[in-house]
Amino acid sequence: MNEQLQNDLKAELEALEAQNLLWNPKTLEGPSSPRSMVAGKEVLMLCSNNYLGLSNQRLLKKSAIEAVRKYGAGSGSVRPIAGTMDLHLKLEESIARFKHTEDALYYNTGFTANSGAIPALLREGDIVISDELNHGSIIDGVRLTKAERMIFKHRDAGELETKLKEARAKNPKRILVITDGVFSMDGDVAPLDKIVPLAEQYNACTYVDDAHGDGVMGEGGRGTVNHFKVEGRVDMDMGTFSKGFGTMGGFIACTKIAKKYLLNKSRTWLLTGSHPPAVVAASIAALELLENNDKFVKKLWRNTKYFKKRLKELNFDTGESTTPITPVMTYDEGKARRMSERLFEEGVYALPIVFPMVAKGKARLRMMVRADLSKEDLDFAIEKIEKVGKELEIVK
Ligand SMILES: *Cc1c(COP(=O)(O)O)cnc(C)c1O
Repeated sequence: MNEQLQNDLKAELEALEAQNLLWNPKTLEGPSSPRSMVAGKEVLMLCSNNYLGLSNQRLLKKSAIEAVRKYGAGSGSVRPIAGTMDLHLKLEESIARFKHTEDALYYNTGFTANSGAIPALLREGDIVISDELNHGSIIDGVRLTKAERMIFKHRDAGELETKLKEARAKNPKRILVITDGVFSMDGDVAPLDKIVPLAEQYNACTYVDDAHGDGVMGEGGRGTVNHFKVEGRVDMDMGTFSKGFGTMGGFIACTKIAKKYLLNKSRTWLLTGSHPPAVVAASIAALELLENNDKFVKKLWRNTKYFKKRLKELNFDTGESTTPITPVMTYDEGKARRMSERLFEEGVYALPIVFPMVAKGKARLRMMVRADLSKEDLDFAIEKIEKVGKELEIVK
């Protein structure tokens, strides 16, 4: 390797390390289950996005194996050429049925859905209005457009209205309001009951990224748009299979016309190989399970309520969260790191979230509740969190 490059990269890594920003991911040595093998140790898993435990669910695994037998290990092409199997279309039908939309387009990931669809929807002369805490993939998608950008204060419908007025006065061709449904760092929820009517009032279009709402919010896990009863009024209902649904793949649930347009215009859809059959079949199975049975989602919320209630009783500060994403605020970065390390030693796996993922002085441990945790698992976690919290003087 070029010596100059090698030295530059090394210096950059050292700078990251000095700022405590270097990732050294621990390795999972088996499925993502309530008790997982992580770096040679059995720990209670509290930091996966596998909300419903579907990643290791029997029907999903069986469907994936059958699809490999019938269709092979790979798809052989990009979707527009020879990589659209009947399975991909069946999945898109399933998404549309589940989300109560006319149709849906399946992308490789949520990241590529955002970085492909947003630039396809926005041209020069358009305006995008985005919540300040939107996900990085939305930010990257917006960066790829020539549209003018406006940011509104987190979940602040009043400020959104001010921005909408400002935007309208500029007479743009199109205004697009973009927000996460559930925000991944704080676990709070976008007030779609206010945002959607406001967008309608100012003739703006709406785009909701529900990566953390799918499988969690709404009736049977149908998402935040369903939760706020604004189905049919959000133009682009974007989601992912990589969290609550337990597999992989992004999507946009929308009208047939929007789907046809997006698949013709999204470079991240046109220019990349399509999903292997195993993933697609498992994704179909995930939706089938949820359509036939709301026990996973109900259990997730029972666990969430219990876990949050116990943490509050112990005087932990769990922030603004109203979802299974449970931040335990330490504010101090060092304390968040120390708490994570101590918990791991005690057999609980939860990761610190620090700057730049959240503002400086807003460090926390982020715990993700899962449906497949038993009451014993939750009690075990709480006992350890209490022990370490007292030890580090996070609570008295
Ligand atoms: C995780 C996440 C994504 C990316 O989804 P992937 O399918 O994992 O690429 C997009 N948006 C939000 C809000 C997310 O949390």
